[in-house]
Amino acid sequence: MLSPKYKPWHLLPFAIKYARLRLTRRPVLVNFEVTMRCNAACGGCDYWKTPAAERAHELASFVDAARAFDPMMITFTGGEPTLRRDLEVIVAEVAQAVPYCYITLLTHGGMLGIERAQALWDAGLDQINISLDYLDERHDVQRGIPGLAAKILRLVPEMRERGMNVRFNSVIRDDNLDDILPIVHHAHRAGAGVNLSVYTDFKNGNKDHLIRADQYARVEALVGELLAFKRRHRGVITNSDWYLRQLPRYLRSEMREPCRSGETTIHINPRGLVRRCPDFPADKHWSEYNGYAPIACNACYYACRGEAQAPLTLSRFQDLLA
Ligand code: SF4
Ligand code: SF4
Repeated sequence: MLSPKYKPWHLLPFAIKYARLRLTRRPVLVNFEVTMRCNAACGGCDYWKTPAAERAHELASFVDAARAFDPMMITFTGGEPTLRRDLEVIVAEVAQAVPYCYITLLTHGGMLGIERAQALWDAGLDQINISLDYLDERHDVQRGIPGLAAKILRLVPEMRERGMNVRFNSVIRDDNLDDILPIVHHAHRAGAGVNLSVYTDFKNGNKDHLIRADQYARVEALVGELLAFKRRHRGVITNSDWYLRQLPRYLRSEMREPCRSGETTIHINPRGLVRRCPDFPADKHWSEYNGYAPIACNACYYACRGEAQAPLTLSRFQDLLA
């Protein structure tokens, strides 16, 4: 475990919890989308167009859902979760209610100063994930937030100095294939980590950043570079080896197996409605969740799809222990 809150001997209660959740077909990871509002302006996502009036329908607390699911992992996400001024209270309530649960936050980092990060960390976070697709101004342009990349790169060492676990969430796109390994190296030098996913146009139909067929060979080479990095430095890249190896198959549309999102990972939106993945409409209140059947969808290769399919191999245990 990567959090100072948990020690190696806590692996046992986590393993027992994992076994119970799998046996009872309950999700291992619950994502709480605390708001769909956002103050960035990404081309591949329309959440920033959510009207401010939606604030009136955002749950004040996610603690009942957290207690009922009692998962191994919880992620606070959005939209942009730090827009919620009461986020510290929401996090603290959940952290106190659910024992043996690894709690993370996913943010674009634009409003995250060191003191806000510390307050959220003290509320009970085990990890803070910051989106980062480029190490330079291209990130600012892509998110519509001037100075964002430089701010993140200044903030992360401060957070590390204070003992916070930090990971970059990086989306592999058509124009950053040569930037992914430098991001990984930067994370490694900073004592941080990286979660990778691949761009999809499923959110709003924007095809501008889809990886093109003439780039597939470059992606295969990148996967080789990432796997070689993982062999040297386990624990920096979160994705399983299996997930990385499947990326070229996904891009070539060679995946035939149904998507099992909603089985081990679910999303609960600001109104308390549940959905199988971040890009499907919510369909029922969280208290009515009774699993999702596999679905013939090949629209994305997010971790909620790819890691749910990944077999339990030795390398996954090595990742976990690292
Ligand atoms: S991708 Fe994230 S940061 Fe960008 S608009 Fe959507 S919610 Fe906001
Ligand atoms: S492939 Fe799965 S996770 Fe991706 S959009 Fe389709 S249902 Fe959702």
